[in-house]
Amino acid sequence: MTILNVLILVCLSYVVFLFAVAFAADRAARMGRGAWLRSPVVYTLSLSIYCTAWTFYGAVGFAARSGLEYLTIYLGPSLVMIGWWWMLRKMVRIGRSQRITSIADMISSRFGKSNLLAVFVTVIAVIGTTPYIALQLQSVTLSINAFAQADPAGGGGMPNTQSTAFVIAMGLALFTIVFGTRNLDVNERHHGVVIAIAVEAVVKLFALLAVGVFVVWGLSDGIGSTLDRIDASSIATWDVSGSRWVGLTMLSAAAFLCLPRMFQVMVVENQDERHLRTASWAFPVYLMLISLFVVPIAAIGLELLPSNSNPDLFVLTLPLTAGQDELAILSFLGGFSSATSMVIVAAIALSTMVSNHIVMPVWLRLTGGTAVVSGDVRTVVLRARRLSIAAIVFLGYLYFRVSGGGAALAEIGLISFAGVAQFLPVLLGGLFWRGATRVGAVTGLSVGSLLWLYCLFLPSFGPGVILPQYVFDQGLFGLSWLRPYALFGAQGMDKVVHAVMWSMSLNALSFIVMSLASFPKPVERLQGAQFVNVFEHSRTGGTWTGGLAQSEDLLVMSQRILGAPQAQALFSKAARAQGLGGFLPEPSPDFLQTLERELSGSVGAATAHAMISQIAGGTAVSVKDLLAVADETAQIMEYSSRLEAKSAEQARTARQLREVNEKLTQISVQKDAFLSQVSHELRTPMTSIRAFSEILRDAKGLTSEDKAKYSSIIHDEALRLTRLLDDLLDLSVLESGQIAMNSQTGLLSETLDRAVAATGGATEGFAILRAPEDEQILLTTDLDRLSQVFINLIANARKYCDAEAPELRIRTKRENGMLIVDFVDNGLGIPIDHQSLIFEKFARVGETKAGGAGLGLAICREIMTRLGGGVSYIPGQGGAAFRVTLPDVQALAAQ
Ligand code: ADP
Repeated sequence: MTILNVLILVCLSYVVFLFAVAFAADRAARMGRGAWLRSPVVYTLSLSIYCTAWTFYGAVGFAARSGLEYLTIYLGPSLVMIGWWWMLRKMVRIGRSQRITSIADMISSRFGKSNLLAVFVTVIAVIGTTPYIALQLQSVTLSINAFAQADPAGGGGMPNTQSTAFVIAMGLALFTIVFGTRNLDVNERHHGVVIAIAVEAVVKLFALLAVGVFVVWGLSDGIGSTLDRIDASSIATWDVSGSRWVGLTMLSAAAFLCLPRMFQVMVVENQDERHLRTASWAFPVYLMLISLFVVPIAAIGLELLPSNSNPDLFVLTLPLTAGQDELAILSFLGGFSSATSMVIVAAIALSTMVSNHIVMPVWLRLTGGTAVVSGDVRTVVLRARRLSIAAIVFLGYLYFRVSGGGAALAEIGLISFAGVAQFLPVLLGGLFWRGATRVGAVTGLSVGSLLWLYCLFLPSFGPGVILPQYVFDQGLFGLSWLRPYALFGAQGMDKVVHAVMWSMSLNALSFIVMSLASFPKPVERLQGAQFVNVFEHSRTGGTWTGGLAQSEDLLVMSQRILGAPQAQALFSKAARAQGLGGFLPEPSPDFLQTLERELSGSVGAATAHAMISQIAGGTAVSVKDLLAVADETAQIMEYSSRLEAKSAEQARTARQLREVNEKLTQISVQKDAFLSQVSHELRTPMTSIRAFSEILRDAKGLTSEDKAKYSSIIHDEALRLTRLLDDLLDLSVLESGQIAMNSQTGLLSETLDRAVAATGGATEGFAILRAPEDEQILLTTDLDRLSQVFINLIANARKYCDAEAPELRIRTKRENGMLIVDFVDNGLGIPIDHQSLIFEKFARVGETKAGGAGLGLAICREIMTRLGGGVSYIPGQGGAAFRVTLPDVQALAAQ
């Protein structure tokens, strides 16, 4: 038996083994015995689909061509796992709470369940993944060819590369269809596939380590001599290009997050958020192990093998030429595992996206929604999935044929990475920035993917295949700044770094700018809030209102999608929870929401939403949605009204401050006025005293008459001065509140008598009219002070009343519990605009003949305030009229 036949036999047995493993795992999971399937180790191993044939074979080729640069491909994911696990945790949490089925679903859900966005992401993902699938097919066919070449019994006859690739593609499509679309799992999880991948992960690691051990200790003489040989090889002399290192590390990190197949195993197939914790260190360890022997294999391969041999196949050709057929076959199985696991998961991930976001919406539209109830959706979805898988794998095969399978493996991988990396800005923005909008996402993705297509993907076919030669030389439309490898004049850069730089930066920029410039729809804002704050939010998706929803129709539809037993179980559980028997729960918003989440596991969030909305007759946005949005708006409004209130308060305080300030200024002015008044009042008598005393002292020959006259003037002025000072002192004592009131009890009539007597009593020229019977009131108050007030008022009347026959009427009455004494004369009275002024200090009306200082009424007011009453001017009495009021508590009628 030739080695090629052995290889094919081993290969087939391996495939059968994988089928068996997948089948057993699926069965165990269905029977509920699959606890071991949900271990963190399986999760970590499933992540290893990151390491495809590109890693298995290509890393050695990469190292042989560019030295240590191949490490960047492992560095990116390791950094993400170690440093960004919290962001992965957020993605996983959102994936679970929103029942996300793919990266397209994730992005479309975030931006208001927009199907346009989902289609967009799906298309880019398909375009970006196709070369990668081609790469896997190529690596498997290349490795088979390596065996054929080394097979002396085969007579050097090469198997037809294209038919080999075709057979492999068919086999892969079959496996994927069988295990990827066995049933429409609500969680979109594929236990069988995941276990098969975990097994393949172990195989490829084991194979690569085995080859590595063989190379170091078999072909070389241990570590020391291997290191020497590495130093001697061209690998040691490679210059490290900083920009390429940074660029490739970032690119691989971005791709790790955005590759549809990585999203599938990392988020969709994730069973438990805590598995991430293990994976965050275990996966980098896996990557480290798998990259451990890359450089030794490359160095020894370069040294031992002929210079025209393909470094991408050193892993295989080194054991083959050394005659180690078993090791070579193990190595082949490792490469085969890497290739198949990638194609399988990528096909599942892409077919989910294609069927959920392209086929189903189109089919729903074509059948006008009636089919949701009458047609068999489940069959349609499954058929769509299967067809998509076949189509995707076939597309990969087509790419392989068209591209001729010539380019170095690593280059194709990088092109693919750069394509899916375009999702990164939108993905990150969606997870962390509530302001990100659908318009921004669509714009960013369009700009990024167009640039990627033009600068990297299309030129990768080579000049003349898709882009004609002149575009490379002169640029599109002859514009030199539009050359694909020197966009906007950025010449001399590495073409991958060049394309990534332009596409990613302009993608992110336009995403941010358009997000800021556009306004999100309510659903977008709701979803945005749920994504960004997923850790604070409950596990709710968009809400539903029951409305016209018919439970029966919903059941019929769900049965077709989920399968009868599962749908019935779901419905009867909901009915029980609502306290109803049977299978039909009330179509409450809660139930519809649960149902939507369940369905979105099978057909995607947007489609599930559309389906339920067709039956429930609801609008895309429910009242509750709107309430939530209104709530949010209300919060914003409350905040702004709080700001307004604050500024109103500040305005009020400012006004108060201004008022106080004005008052202070006024008081200060008053104080100045008062001081100048006082000094003026004092100066007048002082001046005349001085003048007359000087005359008395200095003038000779004064008659004694004159002397007596001048002396009496001096005496009068001194009296006036004393009075003024007394008044001022009295007023200031009263104002300062330092004076104690001296309470006595006496009759009002007696107090009035005293006051009248003190002012000279009623004379011929001045009549005082009283009503003694009203005045018999017993008072308990400071009678001396009260009498001081009366004296002042009577004296004023005497001084100022200018009637021909002046008279003063004193009236006493009790009103509203107050004792009232009015002093009304028959003079001209006081003009209106002076009525309130006369109580102020130094206030005088006109040039008063009597020459008072204007302090009397001010003192009266102070006294009355101290006694608990008041004094005021009452207009309209025919003359000047002053009213003195006293609280009645002290006023007891004396019988
Ligand atoms: P004065 O010590 O100058 O009398 P008052 O405070 O007692 O000061 O009175 C203030 C001013 O009110 C007086 O200058 C006078 O012009 C006016 N006035 C007071 N009582 C009367 C009155 N009965 N008739 C007219 N004018 C009066």
